[in-house]
Amino acid sequence: MFPQNLKEIQSGLLSGDLTMSALVEYYLANAATSAHLNAYVEVYDEEIRTKAIALDVKIKSQPKQLGRLFGLVVSVKDLICHKDHGLTAASKILNGFVSQFDATAIEAILKEDALIIGRTNCDSFGMGSTNKNSHYGPVKNSVDPDYIAGGSSGGSAVSVQIKSCLVALGTDTGGSVRQPAALCGLYGFKPSYGMVSRYGLVAYASSFDQLGLIAHNPQDIDHVMSVVSTTDNNDGTMFAKGLYPESIKSPSNRKRIAILKPTIDSEGLNHEVKLLFDTKMDTLKATGHQVDIVDFDYMDVLVPCYYILTMAEASSNLSRYDGVRYGYRSQQSTNLQDMYVNTRTEGFSSEVKKRIMLGSFVLSSTNYDAYFGKAQRVRRVIKNAIDDILSKYDFIALPTTTGPAWRHDKVLDPLEMYLSDVYTVLANLTGIPCMSLPLGKTSKGMPLGYQIMTSVKNDAHLLSFVDSLS
Ligand code: GLN
Repeated sequence: MFPQNLKEIQSGLLSGDLTMSALVEYYLANAATSAHLNAYVEVYDEEIRTKAIALDVKIKSQPKQLGRLFGLVVSVKDLICHKDHGLTAASKILNGFVSQFDATAIEAILKEDALIIGRTNCDSFGMGSTNKNSHYGPVKNSVDPDYIAGGSSGGSAVSVQIKSCLVALGTDTGGSVRQPAALCGLYGFKPSYGMVSRYGLVAYASSFDQLGLIAHNPQDIDHVMSVVSTTDNNDGTMFAKGLYPESIKSPSNRKRIAILKPTIDSEGLNHEVKLLFDTKMDTLKATGHQVDIVDFDYMDVLVPCYYILTMAEASSNLSRYDGVRYGYRSQQSTNLQDMYVNTRTEGFSSEVKKRIMLGSFVLSSTNYDAYFGKAQRVRRVIKNAIDDILSKYDFIALPTTTGPAWRHDKVLDPLEMYLSDVYTVLANLTGIPCMSLPLGKTSKGMPLGYQIMTSVKNDAHLLSFVDSLS
């Protein structure tokens, strides 16, 4: 049995009990036996084997020169640029596109000797909560392949779940890292907006997007965070100060935790989630933390506000895919205008096209004030209300999903899918850091999660609190 956390892997490699090549073979074998789950778009087997051999040499000959992440194998969502590797955002429109550069986060982990095993499946352009909206087909949950893995980073979550890597790099615009992490029984972390560079992430909704991490434990997330949180002039929204520290371990004294009343009163909340969540909160109380139920008046507007703003930003961000600069070009056209129209009609999935159209609608001059302008103002009101709660409490706790993973054959009405995001979009609307942790399992054995969030820039404190709970 190979160790399942970075510290043990590193000590095994240094003591000679373990080699990088053997570890990589173990991951590759797990990826191959679970290929039917469709977690990967591409596995870089030959490349990672070669790099593992080189790293084994370095471990023996230059142990002092090893980077902080030596021994770490990661998967990368097909939405993050990795130089000279394919990148399609799980879409047809980016078919054949090869990244010209590394995302800042990729550059940072490679510099510290992490290895990348492959790129993972996801909902096209990160749009979805099921991973069924992918050009490569759906991702299946390894707990039971009849069930979805969640989305949009479903492939990322399953790549960790099947032990084909230690940490997955995903993106989280409205819950895409936390939802699949919860539905696959893992930890999923969305940092503060501004804590990790967005340079090299395929943009969906720029004022919401963040790189996110999925792992078996919070310590491995902490290690990667301390490397990927670097200043970057290529992202103007990065914090100038207050980046993730190299290591933080604050004593876990009594914390004040707020539960938002409408979450636990909601009729839409599955009774098993509610029961497990209530039990978890009772455990927190029993271990000495203060847990209070607080009022929050804006639960009903979270989803509409999120979708109006993200669709507006998406319609603008996705205008660059026109058949001229990237990937796929329709061959059906006789003039330039037709080429644009046909490329976009054939290259985007229906979910993506729906969002571009709705986004253009809310940005149009006749509707701008009623929808986009109003949603911007509502976003600020939501943020003020959350800031107010976090001025009195250390953390806010709420479930990650309204229920367990759906079956693949469930016919989903789009509104139902959008509404299922109600608990995760809050952290992106307000830019605060948020971790989804395992909550337990349903009677059918499907995993569930709950979230803990805190104020902007307190990412490291959040991680050490989560660590104290695990
Ligand atoms: N489910 C949400 C959406 O479709 C969140 C997606 C994400 O975080 N990328 O917008």
